[in-house]
Amino acid sequence: MTTPFPTASLASCIDRLQLGEALALLGRDACGQLPDAQGDPVAYLQAVVDGLCNVSLRDPLTGTANRRQLMTVLEGELDRVARSGDAALLLMVDIDHFKTVNDTYGHNVGDLALQHVAQLLQECVRPMDTLARYGGEEFAIVLPACQPAYGKNVADRIRQMVASQPFYASPGQALPLTVSIGGAYALQWIRSTNELWIERADQQLYQAKNLGRNRVCIEPQPDSTVTAEEKDLLFSGLIMPTSAAAESISSMSPGNV
Ligand code: GH3
Ligand code: MG
Ligand code: MG
Repeated sequence: MTTPFPTASLASCIDRLQLGEALALLGRDACGQLPDAQGDPVAYLQAVVDGLCNVSLRDPLTGTANRRQLMTVLEGELDRVARSGDAALLLMVDIDHFKTVNDTYGHNVGDLALQHVAQLLQECVRPMDTLARYGGEEFAIVLPACQPAYGKNVADRIRQMVASQPFYASPGQALPLTVSIGGAYALQWIRSTNELWIERADQQLYQAKNLGRNRVCIEPQPDSTVTAEEKDLLFSGLIMPTSAAAESISSMSPGNV
């Protein structure tokens, strides 16, 4: 039997907790929406904890997941793919010539352009996918259960979305933006590391940049199909007449092997 939570004593404790910095981190808007600390202290503290988790896992400028959250998601996906053999694609998305935007229009407009691209990327992904700001003007997208046959199409759709929706630096002043995308699938049945997975996707991103930008490069999947010829090579030596097989097995005494 569970003991009833001592709500009254918790309410009296809240005044003694030093929550000033935590509440400042949450910001005025979020604090205004917290449940009443004295009326429902458990709900209040839970909301403060949830708010802090949210702050620590989100990128403040774009609202996407931050790098810390990305690392947790990648680790989970690597684990799942290694155990189930399912597919998972990582895309690294970098805005092309973004320095020019800052240099031409200033850093504040650059920030707005980053928010614009983040919003478009968010619109392209499924709820099960994770969009994260990897750093600067580079984003990462983790797509679980994305079959290799679709990876290039998915990434191209994202690329086209950004290219087709210009950012307005000011009313009437359209600023076309493009992204280059590199992608790599998690290695199936093999436990890898976040760093290695990111590195492989990043190599494809460099290739996309080198090929002229505004394009997608996905690491080719290792070909696991077996041709008829390879099957023959694999199995021909094993198909033996019964007597020959028995003879062969009997000759495999420890001394003969
Ligand atoms: P490339 O096509 O090769 O990616 O060229 P690029 O200009 O996009 O790349 P580069 O690495 O030369 O410049 C990235 C720029 O992104 C420089 C940096 O000032 C800007 N940047 C990074 N983070 C932020 C940010 O948070 N806000 C703004 N406004 N700019 C940022
Ligand atoms: Mg860039
Ligand atoms: Mg970059």
